Amino acid sequence: MALDPPPKEGTVAVMVRVRPPGPCEQEQAMHCILHVVDQHVLIFDPEEHSGPPSSMLPTHRPKQQGKDVKFVFDRVFGEGATQEEVFKHTTCEMLDSILDGYNCSVFAYGATGAGKTYTMLGLEKSPGIMYLTMMELYRRIEAREGEKSYEVLVSYQEVYNEQIHDLLEPKGPLAIREDPEKGVVVQGLSFHRPTSAEQLLEMLANGNKNRTQHPTDANATSSRSHAIFQIYLKQQDHIGGLTRDLQVAKMSLIDLAGSERASVTKTKGKRLREGANINRSLLALINVMNALADVKSKKTHIPYRDSKLTRLLKDSIGGNCRTVMIAAVSPSVLAYEDTYNTLKYASRAKEI
Ligand code: ADP
Ligand code: MG
Repeated sequence: MALDPPPKEGTVAVMVRVRPPGPCEQEQAMHCILHVVDQHVLIFDPEEHSGPPSSMLPTHRPKQQGKDVKFVFDRVFGEGATQEEVFKHTTCEMLDSILDGYNCSVFAYGATGAGKTYTMLGLEKSPGIMYLTMMELYRRIEAREGEKSYEVLVSYQEVYNEQIHDLLEPKGPLAIREDPEKGVVVQGLSFHRPTSAEQLLEMLANGNKNRTQHPTDANATSSRSHAIFQIYLKQQDHIGGLTRDLQVAKMSLIDLAGSERASVTKTKGKRLREGANINRSLLALINVMNALADVKSKKTHIPYRDSKLTRLLKDSIGGNCRTVMIAAVSPSVLAYEDTYNTLKYASRAKEI
């Protein structure tokens, strides 16, 4: 099967992934608020919910009064989509970018419980985009070895409460510096060279365990941190015994904190400040995306400096960097507002 045309450099491709209903939501499965029409179209809160044909229902059944909003995206993944499928149509094509020397980034956006971590990190038996990207990158490098030499390094960090922490070698908060040659540098961040698939999986799992997680009313395992897995690719040419053309590019794979509003989680005191900061990083990211969209109408100031997350990703979004946004949504009526808000936001991001 032919691959879809890759997104153009400097553009944002927006995909939506609908997760299957969880065990607690099965009962409400009949009231599914999403209808995946095809690979590009999704209807939120369809007027006629899928179920038995209307002729089989009592004639006095009231007509469902749904919002019935149609959304169009670069790609829509239904409940049945596998990790490999999602990887193939979101991130796999971007590997050409990093091999060509361009930075690129993939974001998982959505409310807590919508499937962001499942998509990016995955489970032991169904590893997600972070793992699948590394495996495919190794495959491509192996196929090209000889022409050039390659070095792959990874780092894994989180932005929590507007502080940066190393997830692979936990220590105090780290500072960001901008280097004229190296771009954005996080001082003291550890770099690793996994030597096997197993070691990579272990690294990802351990890093994830080091993420700051605090139970809230909304979800017992909600994560308020943004996790950033970065892959650095160094390339060198060997011509006549001389090594030249050192090229470094990086790919950032980001599992964002939950996008639900702080007010929903009834946060107080310390949690409220964290909530405000999460909104600050997420809001800053949204503002950066919006400003990039405006570049077409000659808006020149991109507000990267407004949060740690956007400072960290300054050299990885906009310019000639490709970006993929994967909006994770739940099909359950229990997540009605969250799903609607995520789709509305993702739909706006599509205009970039
Ligand atoms: P988030 O990171 O957005 O808070 P999670 O990725 O932790 O959400 O997903 C919530 C729950 O749903 C987890 O138990 C996860 O394993 C499950 N889940 C999410 N997406 C899928 C999927 N596509 N297929 C199967 N299970 C999923
Ligand atoms: Mg998560």
